[in-house]
Amino acid sequence: MIKAAGVNKFFGDLHVLKDINLEVPRGQVVVVLGPSGSGKSTLCRAINRLEPINSGEIAVDGKPLPAEGKALAALRADVGMVFQSFNLFAHKTIVENVMLAPVKVRKVPSGEARKTAMELLERVGIANQADKYPAQLSGGQQQRAAIARALAMKPKVMLFDEPTSALDPEMVQEVLDTMTALAADGMTMLVVTHEMGFARRAAHRVVFMSDGEIVEDATPDEFFTQPKSDRAKDFLGKIL
Ligand code: ATP
Ligand code: MG
Repeated sequence: MIKAAGVNKFFGDLHVLKDINLEVPRGQVVVVLGPSGSGKSTLCRAINRLEPINSGEIAVDGKPLPAEGKALAALRADVGMVFQSFNLFAHKTIVENVMLAPVKVRKVPSGEARKTAMELLERVGIANQADKYPAQLSGGQQQRAAIARALAMKPKVMLFDEPTSALDPEMVQEVLDTMTALAADGMTMLVVTHEMGFARRAAHRVVFMSDGEIVEDATPDEFFTQPKSDRAKDFLGKIL
């Protein structure tokens, strides 16, 4: 569903993605781990072309990523992305936030978009917050709204870049539970997170990045119990 082959990315002289080869089959959940600066966010951003790459190929659902134009907009709609910061529109209600892209980009009639939005808010457990404004919600509720908003475009894959790092500890679990439910529904997901519990429970595979390279690609059990590289051992030693 996601396929990156021979991907290289430079920021000036800095080589931040080094010959990345990664496949995420349909329905798989891949957790990306690695130290700060190892290229995890850049990889996510490259997958939906928020960040241009210097060489290699990235395809989503068998379609190579076009560099720009209408084809790119269509393809980006296939890739839902949830970031650390929720980026909800402050002056729109939660349900309006979720309806916005389907109405504007997909030209869905607003009644239908609202109905779908309410179903999605139900699914992430915040239907009772639909008519509030983002500032009236907790961080965990806002992040679940951001997930509903991404799902509203009916993406084929979901990318999560540290979706819980900005949350107060007591709100982390509700967002992880939402993501776990999504995974159980068969969504294809690439998740950058420091939540090792989520990685162990929900991931089919763990990809460990260090210094722009994929150093290990293993099952969670293999990775956590028998990391092969010194870099992974060192990383796990610091976080576990
Ligand atoms: P973190 O865990 O801190 O989020 P990360 O693994 O997501 O780290 P990236 O944000 O992908 O790392 O950054 C990879 C490298 O690229 C870092 O050295 C970073 O400083 C550099 N970098 C990222 N974005 C830019 C940019 N826009 N311009 C220049 N360098 C950048
Ligand atoms: Mg990052």
